[in-house]
Parts: sequence; structure tokens; C-alpha cells
Amino acid sequence: MKSAIAAAQSVTRLEELTTQCCGSSNRCARAVSLICSRIAFLYKDTIYCSGQSARAPDNALMPDFIRTLRLKVRPEFYPWLNAAAVEVNQTFNYVNETSYAAATRTDRKRKWLSGFDLCSLTAGASEYFEHIGADTIQRICTEYAQKRSAAKRLKLRWRVSRGPRRSLGWVPFKAASLKRKGNALRFCGKTFRVFERERLDGVTWQQGCFAQDAVGDWWLCLPVKVTPEYSVAPKEVVGIDLGLKDAAVTSDGDRLEAIRFYRDAQHKLGMLQRRGHRRQAKRLHRRIRRRRQDACHQFSRKIVDQYQNIVVGDVSSLKLVKTRMATSVLDSGWGMLRQMLCDKGKYACRSVQIVNERNTTRACSNCGSLTGPKGLKHLAVRTWVCVRCGVSHDRDVNAARNILASGFRCGTSVSGNESSPAERPPSQIPYLRAAGSDALQSAA
Ligand SMILES: [Zn+2]
Repeated sequence: MKSAIAAAQSVTRLEELTTQCCGSSNRCARAVSLICSRIAFLYKDTIYCSGQSARAPDNALMPDFIRTLRLKVRPEFYPWLNAAAVEVNQTFNYVNETSYAAATRTDRKRKWLSGFDLCSLTAGASEYFEHIGADTIQRICTEYAQKRSAAKRLKLRWRVSRGPRRSLGWVPFKAASLKRKGNALRFCGKTFRVFERERLDGVTWQQGCFAQDAVGDWWLCLPVKVTPEYSVAPKEVVGIDLGLKDAAVTSDGDRLEAIRFYRDAQHKLGMLQRRGHRRQAKRLHRRIRRRRQDACHQFSRKIVDQYQNIVVGDVSSLKLVKTRMATSVLDSGWGMLRQMLCDKGKYACRSVQIVNERNTTRACSNCGSLTGPKGLKHLAVRTWVCVRCGVSHDRDVNAARNILASGFRCGTSVSGNESSPAERPPSQIPYLRAAGSDALQSAA
């Protein structure tokens, strides 16, 4: 703890000194500040992730994470929210049209309107609306400007309020306009309740929104700051191979059974759609999604609780969706699982690495020769014997071990928490010492 504070102080002092000496040149000062932040980052890593002999980290130095709480709104409040969503759509469409018209003028008054400009253009509009207030209108303007810049377009798609192609409801707000009132919440002069309200106890939320899902239910989405909880996992490293036969296999042989929730429900879903039961079909879709999420949550939680350093393959569903396996690939939720591992890993200060999966199935994890099954033709081969060293392999466990090995080769992690071997002092790292001694010998 003391060393952490000392490190932070020395870095701040270093920054002070450098700004004094290179205050004249902006570029130089910027470069130095970059170096300083990098040093601070490295310091933090060694403090957080020193394996079994870890000291407790200094919470003041730990970066906070934003986690979004998603609470279901009680149905009594739905009609009000539906009406508010129509007003939000009207504002959004006005902003969309105005900014497009300003950007495509042919005279000298052509202008690319920023979020701030749009806010001042819509000032005072709230008195013509029954439900939404000024803060919601401002949020719409700033969100619109952000989305338009991200999409790099002159205008975005219209928000449609009615009909079969209507947009899902969205009512943004600023943090101060949502207040707690006993067991309920208060927003725009209206009192309403949510399910699981105990999750709001003791949290400070940032600006959030009410969002509607495809079934028509409304959810309160509130981003809150969470401080990571530092802990040391009982086991050191694991490699994870994502696949179709089993959704995930670890290098220790643990398996997550194939996620086939969509496949299993496909028949029922088709029946509902043919009968025209659209709402029930949407409910079934939501159920499938939730079951997939639940399976991924449970597996990733188990992995993060057990292992300190996690290495995952970078298998992408984008290439495989064009093949016959598309349904299974999309059903397996690889991206979701990887994202959950990264998020949970960050929160628990684990190292999570994503590595290239090339040749991990073909290579023998014992001797490294490329003697394993190859291509689509050998997809059915689940176990094989290496012809060079004679070791018999389970296809997926072998791949997971190879992924683990390539994780050791490239040292950077996604979460920024380096694994414990990396914190050895430079004098103990073999190749550095060898290079140094060679240099000494040649000098002599
Ligand atoms: Zn071998």
C-alpha cells in the first residue's frame, strides 16, 4: 500500500518537474506526460497482480468501472412511457431534419451543427410537450450529435412512432432528474416503481435512460460506478478453446456444454410465427437470449473465480456465419462469452488475453508438430494420436493447451492486468541477461 502511494507521488512529482522544464514546448510536455502515465500504469500493474504474494491494492489508484443496472419498470408506468417515447421521437426527428438541412445548404451559411448548437435551437421546446422535460431534450440533442458523428453520415434514420416498423421506445434523462422517493422513484413529476429496487440502495447513478425491448416491456438503465474487488484466484493459468461441439473447453478439461437454445426452440418458434402469434414469438426469442446469457454468465463466473490468468482464442463468428454452421455459430454466443470474461476479469483484476487461434487444433501440444486434424473434412475427428511423439489428444483440450501456450508467448492483455511472470525484475529475465552478457563479452 505504502509503495503504491509512493509510486503515485513520485510519478506526480516527475510530472511537475517535467512541466516546469519543458513548459515552453507543448509537444515535448505532451510526450513526457504520456511517458509518465505509462510509468504509472506499469507501476499499478505490478502492484495489483503480483500473484499469491499480493499486497492489498490501493483503492484510490484503482480505476473505476461503469456498470449498467437494468431494472424492470412496473407495468402501471408503461402508458406514460409510451407517450413520452412518441415525444422523444418527434424531437429526434426535428433535430435530424434541422441538422441535415443546415449541413446541405448551398450558400455560405452551411454549418455542421454540434450537440451544443442543437441544444440551443431546441431551447424552450419543453413547454409544448406534456411528458418530457428540458433535460431529456438536451440529452436527445447530444446523443444525436454523437451517433451522427459515429455513423459518419449527414443524417440518421427517422425514429418511427407507429406501425409495424416502429422504433423501440427510448427516453433518456440526466442524473439529477431521477430522484428516489421512499420505495419509489420520481421522474418528470411522475412517481413510479421498479422491480428489484434494493439494487439501487447506496449507489450514485449517472445519466441513463428508459429503454423498451422488443416484447414491449420497459427497463430503467442506470450506469453506476463500481470499484473493482481485488482477489487472488486459487489457480494460476487457463486456456479456453471456443467451439461448436462444446461451447467452451478449458486446458484443464472443464467443458461448457454446447449452447443450443435456439436450435431446440426452432420448431416451436416456427409454429408460432406461422400462426401469426407475433408477441409470443418475441417472448420466446427473449427467453432463448436470456438462457444463453445465463449459461455464459455461469461459465465465465466459474472461470474468473478459479484462475488468475485467462487466455481465450479469437475465433470469430463473422467468417463462419456464411457457412452451413451459421445457426449453431450464432447460437453458441462466442462473442458474448468472451466479453463477459473480459468484463468480469477486469472487475476482479485478472489478466485476460485474446490470442490468435491459428493452427491450435492441428499442432500437438506436447511436441508442437502439425500432425492433428485439419480443415472441415476432419471436423468429426474428436481424438487423435500424434504420429511423432505418440501422445493421444482430445481435440478441444489440445487446442485449449495450445491457446494457453500462445498466451505465454505474447505478453499483453486486454484488461491491462499483466500476469504474474511479467513482474520479474529485468535482471531475472533470461534473454535480457543473455543479451547483456553478450554485449559485455564483445566489448571486452
Ligand atoms: Zn506430438
